[in-house]
Amino acid sequence: MTVITDKFGRPMKDLRISVIDRCNFRCRYCMPKEIFGRDFVFMPKEQLLSFEEIEHIAKLFVDLGIKKIRLTGGEPLLRRDLPVLIEKLVRIEGVEDIGLTTNGSLLFNMAQKLKDAGLKRVNVSLDALDNTLFKSINDSGVGPEKILKGIEKAKEVGLEVKVNMVVKKGMNDEEIVPMAMYFKEQGIALRYIEFMDVGQSNGWNFNKVVTKKEIFQELSKHFEMEAVDPAYVGEVAKRYRYIGTNTEVGFITSVSNSFCSSCTRARIAADGKMYNCLFAENGFDFRQSLRSKKTDEEIKKEIMSIWSNRTDRYSDERTEESAKHKKKIEMSYIGG
Ligand code: SAM
Ligand code: SF4
Ligand code: SF4
Repeated sequence: MTVITDKFGRPMKDLRISVIDRCNFRCRYCMPKEIFGRDFVFMPKEQLLSFEEIEHIAKLFVDLGIKKIRLTGGEPLLRRDLPVLIEKLVRIEGVEDIGLTTNGSLLFNMAQKLKDAGLKRVNVSLDALDNTLFKSINDSGVGPEKILKGIEKAKEVGLEVKVNMVVKKGMNDEEIVPMAMYFKEQGIALRYIEFMDVGQSNGWNFNKVVTKKEIFQELSKHFEMEAVDPAYVGEVAKRYRYIGTNTEVGFITSVSNSFCSSCTRARIAADGKMYNCLFAENGFDFRQSLRSKKTDEEIKKEIMSIWSNRTDRYSDERTEESAKHKKKIEMSYIGG
């Protein structure tokens, strides 16, 4: 079994692939309209990796030890024939798990096709149940009802669903408890994500982060919860279970309790650039490698060299200064 480790001994185990940099939402913490407005230039189609290219690069990563693949974006369901890609990835020998992260706005119509293609699980992002608030967060006029219908449909067709909620102080703290109540009732795992300083445009500072501790304290006023052991070494979410149920609630503590020491994720952006970290500045252009006449062995050597030289641990080292001044790529481009 191939295992490539980086400079800190972290194995390369998971691959996140962003399939598109565009999105039909303009979440204020991710793609604020002031930056991602009408004039913003997204990647032209020919710069995006084709499904064949994604399949090709994914195979090479799997040869090098990747077991889990997650598709993300931008909004991945904007690539309408995404099930075709899923079919291709499911067929790769050695892949144990394929996931999809989506804003859920197109899920209702896509759920069955995704399931038929072989997808097993989907993470749906939803930051509020309140109609006006949710519309103001996504800044695109889409209400929560549409996302909830998508979630329901996904469950109905047999997909495992988790819901992700980014919590930002002053934005949606009021929704922490209503979201927990709703999804507990539905038997769906909800995960709270601490607001992060990704990209250059989301106006982040420490004061806007609602930490796991704060969220947990708030939830404890309403629910009894017990810790759940991690399913595997390096699991990112800190998981709990509502006592007396099988329903879980989790926390992604990227700011208050970073987990760089167990970060095993490689990332491919929509244009085929590989990044070693969500907060990286530079990526390695695998589109170029795929479109030139390089052999698979040559490309694999490139991947190995990039991962084995990896020293990234941004969240462990984050300061207010680095958050403000470090040049970083945007979340919608690299895929979260
Ligand atoms: N559009 C899809 C979606 O929203 O699920 C997939 C891409 S989105 C970039 C992936 C995840 O990143 C979403 O759950 C989103 O809420 C999260 N995200 C975006 N910006 C973030 C930020 N500044 N801090 C924490 N999470 C963020
Ligand atoms: Fe789009 Fe997802 Fe970013 Fe929201 S979080 S703007 S849905 S990419
Ligand atoms: Fe991994 Fe970078 Fe996040 Fe640390 S900051 S957990 S290295 S992606």
